[in-house]
Amino acid sequence: MITKAFSFILPTDIRYGKDITSDLTILLKDREINQVLLVTDPGILKTTLVDQVVAYIKTAGAQVTIFSDVSPNPRDTEVTKGASIGIHANAEAIVAVGGGSPMDCAKSINVLMSLKKDSIKEFEGSGKVPRPLKPYFAIPTTAGTGSEVTWSSVINDTENQYKMTIKSTYMAATVALVDPALTTSVPAAITASTGMDALTHAIEAFTAKNANPISDALALQSVELITQSLLNAYRHGDDMQARDQMMMGSMLGGLAFSHSDVASVHCMAEALGGSLDLPHGLCNSILLPYVMEFNAPAAITRFARLAKAMGLTFDEENEGADLAVQFVKDLASSVELPQLNELAVTPEDFPRMAAIAMKNGSTPSNAREMTEIDYLNLFQRAYQG
Ligand code: NAD
Repeated sequence: MITKAFSFILPTDIRYGKDITSDLTILLKDREINQVLLVTDPGILKTTLVDQVVAYIKTAGAQVTIFSDVSPNPRDTEVTKGASIGIHANAEAIVAVGGGSPMDCAKSINVLMSLKKDSIKEFEGSGKVPRPLKPYFAIPTTAGTGSEVTWSSVINDTENQYKMTIKSTYMAATVALVDPALTTSVPAAITASTGMDALTHAIEAFTAKNANPISDALALQSVELITQSLLNAYRHGDDMQARDQMMMGSMLGGLAFSHSDVASVHCMAEALGGSLDLPHGLCNSILLPYVMEFNAPAAITRFARLAKAMGLTFDEENEGADLAVQFVKDLASSVELPQLNELAVTPEDFPRMAAIAMKNGSTPSNAREMTEIDYLNLFQRAYQG
C-alpha cells in the first residue's frame, strides 16, 4: 500500500534547551515590541519563573502587563478579561509562561485582542480565525500538553459546561522557548497527571485514523521517551535527564497529535473534566487503558508497535496489545493517580458525559467506530476499575 496524501505544517519556530528563554530579549527587540501582555497563573506567580521572564522583557526595553487570572481549566470569561486588559495596555505581543492552561488562554486572548472581539465562542471549531494575529511567544513550564507547538486552544464554555476547542494555525506560537529546567518545580502529583496527558497524546496520535508517517515517527519517539522517564521525573523532581526526556516527549506528542488528532480518550476526558473541573491529564490517565482495550482489535498491529516502543517483548501482536494496556495501567498506579470511582462522580453522570463525548470533533478520528452507547459502556467499565 502506498502512502496516503497528507501535509505537514509547522508554523512555530521551536527553540529548545537550557536557558533558551533568554532568547526572548532579542526576539522582542528584533520585532521592535514595546508593550507585552504576559499571561500566567497564580501557581506560577509563586515561583521565580515569571520574574526571570519579566527581566528578559525589560532588557528588550519593553513594558509588561501581567494577567494571571487563569484557572487550571481556563474559562471563556478569563479569555475575555485578559483580552480587554491587553487591549487597554496596547499590547503588541503576548508571552505565556505556564502549563497548558496559560498557554491555551493566551492563544484565545490573542484572537480577541488582535481582532478586537469580546467572545471566544464565535471562533469555536476549526479555521474560524480569519487572519494572522499578534506575535505570541510560548514558554511551557509543564511537560504534558504540548500546547507550545499545537494550534488549538481548549477553553471551558462556562454557560454550557464543556470544554470547547478553537483551532487555527494562526493561533500557533510564533516561537516556542522550551527549557526542561523550568519543570523541576512542578509538584509530583502534577508531574504525574501532565506526564500521563503527554503519553495519551502520543498513543492517540499513533492510533488515530489520520495518522501519517511523520506523526507516527514523532508519536513513537514520544512514547519511548515518556515511558522511560515518567516514573523517575515523578520520584525525583530534580532528575534533569528525566525532566529533559519528559519535556521532549511532551513536545513531540504535541507535534504528532496536531497533525494526526487525538481520539476517544480525549473526547471522554474533556466531557469528564469540563463537567467536574478536574485536571485534564488525570482524566486522560483514568480513561486511557479502557479506550486502548476497546480500540486494540481495530488496530492490532499499531498497538503492538506501541508495546515495542514501551520496551515490552512478546511473540504475538495480540499479546503485545494486552501488555501495552497493562503497562499503562501499572504506570498510572505507580505515579499514584486515582481511578474513576475515587472521584466525585457517580454512574448517573455518565449518560450526559457520553452524549458530550459523542459530539466531540475528535470522535470520528478514533481507531474504532464509536457510538454513544460505546462511550457509556466505557465510562461504566472504567468506573468498575
Ligand atoms: P496547568 O497549566 O493547568 O497547570 C497545573 C498546575 O500546575 C497549575 O496550578 C500551575 O500553577 C502549576 N504549575 C505549572 N507549571 C509549574 C511549575 N513549573 N512549577 C510549579 N507549579 C507549576 O496544567 P497542564 O496540564 O499543563 O494544562 C492543562 C490544560 O491544557 C487543560 O485545560 C487542557 O485542556 C489543556 N490542553 C491543551 C492542549 C493543546 O494542544 N492546546 C493539549 C492538551 C491539554
